[in-house]
Amino acid sequence: MSNYSKPTIDWDSLGFNVTETKSMFRATCDLGGKWSGGELIPYGDIQLSPFAGVLNYGQGVFEGVKAFRSSKGNVVLFRPEMNGKRMAFSTKRICMPEMNPAFFVDAVTKTVKDNIDYVPPFGKGSLYIRPVVWGTAPILGVSPTSEYTFMVMVSPVGPYFKNGIKPLNLKVNTDYHRAAPKGIGNAKAIGNYSASLFPLMEAKKEGFDENIYLDAKEEKFVEELGSANMFIYKDGCLKTPALNGSILGGITRQSVCQVASDLLGITVEKTELTVDDLLSADEVFCTGTAVVITPVGKISYQGKMTEINQNKMGPIAQKIRETLVGIQREELDDPFGWVVSVE
Ligand SMILES: *Cc1c(COP(=O)(O)O)cnc(C)c1O
Repeated sequence: MSNYSKPTIDWDSLGFNVTETKSMFRATCDLGGKWSGGELIPYGDIQLSPFAGVLNYGQGVFEGVKAFRSSKGNVVLFRPEMNGKRMAFSTKRICMPEMNPAFFVDAVTKTVKDNIDYVPPFGKGSLYIRPVVWGTAPILGVSPTSEYTFMVMVSPVGPYFKNGIKPLNLKVNTDYHRAAPKGIGNAKAIGNYSASLFPLMEAKKEGFDENIYLDAKEEKFVEELGSANMFIYKDGCLKTPALNGSILGGITRQSVCQVASDLLGITVEKTELTVDDLLSADEVFCTGTAVVITPVGKISYQGKMTEINQNKMGPIAQKIRETLVGIQREELDDPFGWVVSVE
C-alpha cells in the first residue's frame, strides 16, 4: 500500500454515521458450501445484480460489534465469538450457508487491524463494525439464492453519550409489533428493522426516542425496543424478558445478567414482564452494543406518562454500567475473559 496515508479525522466531531475507511473484507460462499477464504478490498461501492436475493426477498442478516482503545492502549473487541455464534444462528434461519464463528472472528479481526488508524483514541468513541451476509446471486422465484456474500465494513463513531447520559422517553406501542411468535425476531435479519421503521418514525414525531414492543400474541408482555433489550429493577431483583423466540438475544443483555449475578450479587430473573411491572419498577434501562446501558426515564402507555426514578439513571443501572464498561476498558479485572485484543 505505497500510496496509503494516515487519515486525518477530527475525533471530537464524530457522531453515529458512516465515515469511509481504508478497507473492507469480502468472502463468498455457494449455497450448501462452507465459509472460507475471502480478502480485504478497498472500501467502496459494490456491484450487485438487481435480481439479487437480498434486494428482492430480504435475504440478509447483520451483526454489530465495536472495537475500541482500552485504558491500556490495546485495541480490543468485546466477546466477538458471541456475535459469530449469533450470526451462525441468523444465517441458518434465513437459509444461508451457516456462518462459522471462528471464520467470522478472523475476518472481523483482519478488518479492524487493516483499519487500525480509524480506531478513535481512548474515550473518543469506537470503530463500529458491521458484518453482513447477503444473498447476492440473481433469483426470480421466492427461494434461497445460489451465492452468498459476507462483508465486514467498519466506521469510526463518536461516544454514544456526548453530553452525559440522558434517560430515554419511550412509548409502549399498542399499534404495531416488532416480531411475530415463531417468526424471525430472534435473528438479526434485515427485515426486522424495515418493519420497525414506520412505528419508529411515528414515535419520533410524537416526541419519543423509541418504542417498547409487546408480545404479538397476547399484547401483554414486554419484549424489547427496536434494537435494544430491556431490564427492570424492582424489590431487589433485576428482571429481563426471557428469550421467547421473538426477542433478539443481545450479547449486552447476557453480559449484564452475568455481571449483576456473578460480580455484584444481584438476583437476576429471566421471566415474563408485564407493562405494570415496567411502570411500577424502581429502575428501567435498556441494553445494546452501542449504548451499553441506557436508563429509561419516562414511559407512556395508552396516552398516560409515568416517570421512572424521577427521570434519572438509577444506582443499580449505574453500578452495572460502571462494572461492564470498566471491564471493557481494561480498567477492571476481566474475570470471564470477555475482552479480546486484536494485535
Ligand atoms: C442488536 C440488537 C439488540 C442488542 O444486541 P447486542 O448484542 O447487545 O448489541 C437487541 N435487540 C435487537 C432487536 C437488536 O437488533
